[in-house]
Amino acid sequence: MKISEILKNKEVTVSFEVFPPKQWDKIENTKATVRKMSKSNPDFMSVTYGAAGTRSGFTQEIANEIKDNGITPLSHLTCLTSTKEKIDRVVTELKENNIENILALRGDIPEGFVFPDKQYFRYAYELINEIKRIGDFCIGGACYPEMHPESESREADINNLKFKVDCGAEFLTSQMFFDNEKFLEFKELCIKKGVNVPLIAGIMPITNANQIKRSIELSNSSVPKKFFKIMERFGDDPKSMKQAGIVYATEQIIDLMANGVNNIHIYTMNKPEVSAQIMNGLSDIINH
Ligand code: FAD
Repeated sequence: MKISEILKNKEVTVSFEVFPPKQWDKIENTKATVRKMSKSNPDFMSVTYGAAGTRSGFTQEIANEIKDNGITPLSHLTCLTSTKEKIDRVVTELKENNIENILALRGDIPEGFVFPDKQYFRYAYELINEIKRIGDFCIGGACYPEMHPESESREADINNLKFKVDCGAEFLTSQMFFDNEKFLEFKELCIKKGVNVPLIAGIMPITNANQIKRSIELSNSSVPKKFFKIMERFGDDPKSMKQAGIVYATEQIIDLMANGVNNIHIYTMNKPEVSAQIMNGLSDIINH
């Protein structure tokens, strides 16, 4: 099913993200993770794409597994380091495998990267145009409540988002954030600027101390005092930190929903027990 249809027909949605393994011999483990996560019945499940595009087959394999478990898959695809020829090949394969949804991304710029030539796409909107040329997909894009780090200003960032939507992005999934106010302000600005597609709030449950620093660095997200206090108090105790991280993420989702944000995407970090506990904490709220 197309995600645009799911978002249109359901008042509240919760989706999950998984990532494929780095080595092929671990693919069965990731498939088992998908099977466990499917039991929580998310509205759809996305699968990430390796930064350099070298493991596109892994993403495809996991997308197929999601589909085989009766869940709608969303396949991520990046363009910056893949030739147009390679992109066309991957999109055609997705079409042949009846994957209907693609999250079209530029990809992060690798260190020392020199932009090659016209055989490559520079921005996500170019990838969106290319995917639309190849098939009738539902296409989503990424958005950044606290601005993409390369954007000159918040205004430029949202203007570029608007352009991405005008090219055909039917929903935007956000970068993780820990302060709901940031997302709510961002949503207001998007509405003012005419970005009129569903904005899906990306929530990352922080369940261990090692994950904290890296997630914050990668996402450029600000961290509220309340969250710092939790890390200070429980960061050294894995069991307590996991429990506190799950509760924090659950509370974040409930607060977002209370503020009219009805579409949530959970960065599960391939931990079925974490996503299941969050879903349990929301069971009546989701089915309301
Ligand atoms: P774009 O939308 O192209 O934007 C990149 C920058 O260029 C922004 O600063 C934007 O404002 C600017 N820009 C856009 N259009 C123009 C224009 N016309 N003129 C001038 N400037 C412009 N990475 C992976 O490698 N694999 C993944 O699976 C993956 N999944 C992700 C999922 C989500 C939900 C998110 C939020 C990010 C994900 N990423 C992934 C990371 C993503 O690839 C990076 O954040 C990347 O730096 C930007 O990608 P984008 O699609 O937002 O780029």
